[in-house]
Amino acid sequence: MQNKRIYLSSPHMSEEGYEMEYIKEAFDTNWIAPLGENVNQFEKEICQVTGAKDAAALSAGTAAIHLALKLLGVGAGDLVFCQSLTFSASANPIIYQNATPVFIDSEEETWNMSPDALERAFKKYINCGKKPKAVIVVHLYGIAAKIDEILEICNKYDVPLLEDAAESLGTIYKGKMTGTFGSCGVLSFNGNKIITSSGGGMLLFNTDHAKEQAEKSRFWATQSRESERFYQHKELGYNYRMSNVVAGIGRGQLKVLGHRIEKKRNIYFYYKDEFKKIKDIKMMPIHNESQKCNCWLSTLVLSNESTVTPFDIQLALEKENIEARPIWKPMHLQPFYKNYDYIDNGGVAEKIFEQGLCLPSDTKMTEDDLKRVSTIIKSFWY
Ligand SMILES: *Cc1c(COP(=O)(O)O)cnc(C)c1O
Repeated sequence: MQNKRIYLSSPHMSEEGYEMEYIKEAFDTNWIAPLGENVNQFEKEICQVTGAKDAAALSAGTAAIHLALKLLGVGAGDLVFCQSLTFSASANPIIYQNATPVFIDSEEETWNMSPDALERAFKKYINCGKKPKAVIVVHLYGIAAKIDEILEICNKYDVPLLEDAAESLGTIYKGKMTGTFGSCGVLSFNGNKIITSSGGGMLLFNTDHAKEQAEKSRFWATQSRESERFYQHKELGYNYRMSNVVAGIGRGQLKVLGHRIEKKRNIYFYYKDEFKKIKDIKMMPIHNESQKCNCWLSTLVLSNESTVTPFDIQLALEKENIEARPIWKPMHLQPFYKNYDYIDNGGVAEKIFEQGLCLPSDTKMTEDDLKRVSTIIKSFWY
């Protein structure tokens, strides 16, 4: 018989059954539509937990990025600077808006956007009279980017920052939650994220115009329907609102976010300890002084000298019914995005992609499961 499958990161409902209570409330009151108490409360609770000034609950993190770009005034022909090492959902909404992405390389210390490459991108484009409308930074795998440095550059050029915090809910950078530093922040509650609503997203607003921006986003997300007696539309609309049932699951999950972060961090430190004597393995950088990482996925990179490849490890794990995945393939290497500009910082994103691997980081894993995984990996060296 095959061993029980160990997943990368799968949904984990609360042991207390909070999610069902909120769903039941929605059913009992027949508030199944998008709109309802769970949606309103979920937005409020997210603001309380993160410190955002306002929030709009949406059908997906991707929808949140799309509306954020629209709010920041990104339209046809505009430029957007976007981190290259990320999931495609960070960049696709730039194309939805018929704008043009310029991809920015990462740096070793955080794996995220290199402030140096960002500065060079600004110089290059401002020299030819083109200023981007927005910058998209990502907190990959829960690791906070160099927010201070990046914000300073954005402020200098007076360009708004959009934080893709889809993977970093709960990560604290210098005392504040990721997603609350930029003009807007984006969260995702997709099935693989640290908490899930079965699918959904949240757009966070952090400026003095938070309330108006949140209202505008909710308006766009509900088909831009004017409050008239008849169906009146002055603007293009979207069907992006979160449903009240989905928001109920999200509310229940939010109650156990702290436990999930604790477990994710334990997984990370377990691996780190197990592999500490293997010179070829470096766990992802989590900077304990400047941040508390949510450790959404525990990832590693192998040294250039390693004769073992990430794919070797992935295959060995898969043979034992254990799921591991490659690192996100950088956008500038994607066939769809190959014709867009890319500002290089010595190929950092490419190297992390080529030498990296995401290890099973499921919060339902037991100590035995962790031992199974690390024993297989260590066996390549011992
Ligand atoms: C998951 C994810 C998204 C998209 O969120 P969805 O809710 O799946 O649309 C965006 N950016 C990053 C970095 C993600 O990991």
